[in-house]
Order: sequence, then C-alpha cells, then structure tokens
Amino acid sequence: MFEVFVGHNKEASHQQPFAKQVDCPHCRSTARIALTSLEGATPNTGPRVSDLHLNQKDAFWPHDSIAFAIYFCKKCGIATVLWNQA
Ligand SMILES: [Zn+2]
Repeated sequence: MFEVFVGHNKEASHQQPFAKQVDCPHCRSTARIALTSLEGATPNTGPRVSDLHLNQKDAFWPHDSIAFAIYFCKKCGIATVLWNQA
C-alpha cells in the first residue's frame, strides 16, 4: 500500500528526502517534483513491489519497501522516477 503526496514531502522517503528538482535525463533541462509516494514498511500493508519479482543474479529488483518521486521536465514534459528502499 502506498501513500501518495502531491509535490515535495520530506517524510516520503526511506532514505534522504528526494530533491525538489533534478536534471532531466532525456534533454538535460530541469525536471521538477510532482508526486512522492511511500510504500509501508510493515508486513500488514498489503502486497509490495518487492513481491512482484525475485532478486536474481545479474538483475536487480527492490528487496524491501520502496519510496519514489515522479518528476516532470519543464522543457520536454517526460516523466522521470527516482526511488529508494527501506
Ligand atoms: Zn526534458
């Protein structure tokens, strides 16, 4: 289960808070934060992203609850997602 917040939320991360803006990886302009979301860290919060696939050799998938931030580029409009895990 995810909690979703509009804009920057310092509490919506399992690690350091997400930055308010990042470089757009598509056009190198500036992407500004639009949404942040936190997946619960307790086992009673329902299915988790980490349950969808197995972590395997030569591949990577989250092994714990995640938080993510969605950014929209001010120039090209393409969304970028950054995430971290508990
Ligand atoms: Zn861009």
